[in-house]
Amino acid sequence: MMEDFNPNRYAVIDAKNPREIVMLRGHGCTWRRCRFCDYHLDSSKDEAANFALNQKHLKKVTGVHGKLEVINSGSFVDLDEQTVALIEQVCLKHGIKQVHFECHWRHRNEIADFRKRFAAHDIELKIKTGVETFDSLFRESYLDKGITTDSPEEIAEYFDEVCLLQGIPGQTAKSMDSDIQTGLKHFERVCINIMQENGRPIKPDPGVIRIFSQELYPKYINDSRVDILMENTAFGVGGVVTHAE
Ligand code: SF4
Repeated sequence: MMEDFNPNRYAVIDAKNPREIVMLRGHGCTWRRCRFCDYHLDSSKDEAANFALNQKHLKKVTGVHGKLEVINSGSFVDLDEQTVALIEQVCLKHGIKQVHFECHWRHRNEIADFRKRFAAHDIELKIKTGVETFDSLFRESYLDKGITTDSPEEIAEYFDEVCLLQGIPGQTAKSMDSDIQTGLKHFERVCINIMQENGRPIKPDPGVIRIFSQELYPKYINDSRVDILMENTAFGVGGVVTHAE
C-alpha cells in the first residue's frame, strides 16, 4: 500500500474509443510476481477506505461517451462488493452501456459470471488482460507473468482486449510487430504500454524504445484498435503508478 499516493483517478478520453476512465483501488493484485510491475502498490486491505476513495471518483463519471473503463491495479475481483455495486448504479444512472475491466489470467473462470451480472442491466463488459507478449517462454521465464497457456486462441476465449509491454531488453522490431499483429488478429483492441522505469528488476531498454518509436509507432498510431501509451499517464490517470492489468 502506498500511504501518500495521490494520482489522478478520473479522466475523459476523447480520442480512439472515447470513454471515461477511473483508476480505483482494491485490495491488490494477488499475483504480484511480474518482474516489471509495481502497479499493485496502489492497493489497500482497508475495504472501507477503498470504497470511500472509489466513491469519490465514481461520482465524477457523467456518461458523456456511454462507455467507462475501470482500472484498479489488479483485477476486477480485487474490488470490494460495494464498489462494484456502485459501478453498476453509476452506469444505470448515466446510461453507460459498455464497461471495460481488467483481469489477470488466474481469474479467468470468474469472468463469465461477472459478464452475466452486468448483462442483467443490459451492460456489456469488455475484459482486458495484460499478456505483455505472446512469446510464452520469454513471458514466463523473464517477466513471470503467470499465464499458463501459450495459445492466443485460448486467451481470447476469455478476454476481449490485451495489453502488451514493449521497450524491454530482448525485444526487436520483428518481435514487437509480431505481438501487435497477433493481438489484432485475436482480440478486439490492443493497448501497448512502453516500459517505464520503476523499482522492479526489469528496466526499459532505450534502444528498443527508439526502435519502437521509429518503426512501430508510425505504423500503428492511427489504428483505431490500437492504444499506445508512451507514458503510463497517457490516459490521463495515474501518477506514480498506473496499471495495465
Ligand atoms: S502486472 Fe498485473 S498481474 Fe502482474 S504483478 Fe502487476 S498488477 Fe499483478
